[in-house]
Amino acid sequence: MSALLEVRDLKVHFPVRRGVLQRQVATVRAVDGVSFDVEEGSTLGLVGESGCGKSTTARAILRLVEPTGGSVKLGGADIVALKPGELRKKRRDMQMVFQDPYASLNPRMTVFDTLAEPLLTHGLVKDKAEVEKRVRELMSQVGLSGAYMRRYPHEFSGGQRQRIGIARAIALHPKLVLLDEPVSALDVSIQAQIINLLMDLQQSLGLTYVFVAHDLAVVRHVCAEIAVMYLGRIVERAPAKELFVTPRHPYTKALLSAIPIPDPEVERKRKRLVLVGEVPSPLNPPAGCHFHPRCPSAEDRCKTEVPKLRELAPGVTAACHLAD
Ligand code: SF4
Repeated sequence: MSALLEVRDLKVHFPVRRGVLQRQVATVRAVDGVSFDVEEGSTLGLVGESGCGKSTTARAILRLVEPTGGSVKLGGADIVALKPGELRKKRRDMQMVFQDPYASLNPRMTVFDTLAEPLLTHGLVKDKAEVEKRVRELMSQVGLSGAYMRRYPHEFSGGQRQRIGIARAIALHPKLVLLDEPVSALDVSIQAQIINLLMDLQQSLGLTYVFVAHDLAVVRHVCAEIAVMYLGRIVERAPAKELFVTPRHPYTKALLSAIPIPDPEVERKRKRLVLVGEVPSPLNPPAGCHFHPRCPSAEDRCKTEVPKLRELAPGVTAACHLAD
């Protein structure tokens, strides 16, 4: 299988300006040299706490925020180098499902209008009858009855609204869908239904996903590979099975340690690694290894030497001086 998405050294830096002359006084390195591939038809999980740069990475891939550097190739074409007109056409191939389905849907537009808009903008339907047929089809694909197409977002539950968001994302037959915390705002009882729907659609439509999540438990069964981010950088990347059994980076170990184990016996015996404090501000990240102020294994050199991503096993990389 070949990589559909190739991200190389992606950077998103925001200037911080102050004073009357709006001089740049600092730089926020929200995404700071991120590289990964995603194979066609596969799912990569992008995981980390809030503020680690995972959502900004997803938005930069779509150019909803402008990358400062690096390249993003989708099917070989560099998205970062596209001119606005070319980008508009290419957007058909890459769509996003947002965390909050209520905020991402226009409250004044019916489901019909929401789903018809991209079809009409991209000239995918010829007449009114065809629009209606395609809207019904999309609603059925996400498990909603076409009888509800004239309703407004507030008339649906959170789970149903997310189904509408997913229908809008697949309307243009995209190749890549970026899922930005797609179930975080939903009740736990609904989360599994939405994840199952996403998996079914991936199978039937051959979609490639980047699944952004703050919780490793959510991505466990849906991702072939997982990249863990901390302060704008990937600190570990591994096949999902490997990462859950043999985490290499102390940050990954801490994130895994926060997931409860259903067996009370195992749960009682296991050693917990509790993360203290918050993710530091990307405006002023700690020197050396960004994780050192919170790392239980930190040594003196961690305060000055930046650890490089090293390959520790086939397909497994981690950025830690001590990982092996
Ligand atoms: Fe911890 Fe040092 Fe490894 Fe960073 S490099 S994760 S501070 S042990």
